[in-house]
Amino acid sequence: MNQFLKYAVPGVQQLTPYLPGKPVEELERELGITNAIKLASNENPLGPSQKAVVAAQAILNKVNFYPDGSSHELRQSLAAKHGVAIDSISIGNGSNDILELIARTFLAPGYSAVFSEYSFAVYPIIVQAVGADARIAKAFSADDPVMPYGHDLDELLSQLDQQTRVVFIANPNNPTGTWLERERLSDFLENVANNIIVVLDEAYYEYMPEDLKPDSEALIKRFPNLIITRTFSKIYGLAGLRIGYSISHPDVADLLNRVRQPFNVNLLAQTAALAALDDDQHLLTSIAMNNSGLQQLANGFNALGLGFIPSIANFITVNLDRAATPVYEALLREGVIVRPVANYCLPNHLRITVGTEEQNRRVLDALERCIND
Ligand SMILES: *Cc1c(COP(=O)(O)O)cnc(C)c1O
Repeated sequence: MNQFLKYAVPGVQQLTPYLPGKPVEELERELGITNAIKLASNENPLGPSQKAVVAAQAILNKVNFYPDGSSHELRQSLAAKHGVAIDSISIGNGSNDILELIARTFLAPGYSAVFSEYSFAVYPIIVQAVGADARIAKAFSADDPVMPYGHDLDELLSQLDQQTRVVFIANPNNPTGTWLERERLSDFLENVANNIIVVLDEAYYEYMPEDLKPDSEALIKRFPNLIITRTFSKIYGLAGLRIGYSISHPDVADLLNRVRQPFNVNLLAQTAALAALDDDQHLLTSIAMNNSGLQQLANGFNALGLGFIPSIANFITVNLDRAATPVYEALLREGVIVRPVANYCLPNHLRITVGTEEQNRRVLDALERCIND
């Protein structure tokens, strides 16, 4: 029992910490092995763009200077990429930083935020930490023929009331990999009162097939209460540097900027992100590898007789039809780290990041041994 618990603010008393994927080094230390693989945190198996690496290395001898607190160059580049004003772009220490800025800007005790079942574990943490209520909308059921476990936008709408200030939607969603139909999404936005901030978390946007991608820029222009978040952690392969951003109405960005720490994004991250935006080939190669990897894993699960949630992200959540923890642990002993999702109320599932062809083969082979034990 924590002796200071009763002195913490009420929201914090109820929190449980975010459980990250197990680091490779930790497992190797525990097992005394050297060839472990991690397919647990949706990191890019190709690594970062070499342009980003070179740029970050070149700036290392300038770390005696504070970074540009306004991330001007990067915001300018992102504004051009998205065809929006520079004042619409906010940069965060990971997109999680932006999500937290949104909670601190728009939520407090007496207010509520709404999000779906099986959505990103960070949402309840940041909402509760500021003392607001987290209201959970029912997701589509496990046997829904179209989008099992997906966000049900009608259920989300039905949870909105006078207290609601923020709605969090992930598209594609983590940990399910499910997505929203474009038309349904814009209908939803039309039905949300414009004093409620809608956060559209697009951490996996770049992996989406073109015909399923929403026109994010058009949505931002149409709905001033919409904030779109993107990250350099996933397809750009810069998770270790911590950098993400949002696109919003400039007035919303102005409020986030008031709460933001002056130097929330470090120099290496700003520099690497700017260079990464200039590496289309890295993006295209990553997309191609992910598409074939999704297919490889889906084929492998089918061959093993395992169901899975349809995904267009860089991971698939597989249904073991029995408690997943023992299988997770058996996989660890094989040197394969995946992600248990019992904390998302999916105790029979494991979330597996799409790796290289060889890594995917290895996780499938290990899985075959572990489920037949
Ligand atoms: C990985 C992920 C993020 C990105 O977090 P960063 O802080 O940018 O690393 C955001 N939202 C979702 C749903 C994610 O899965």
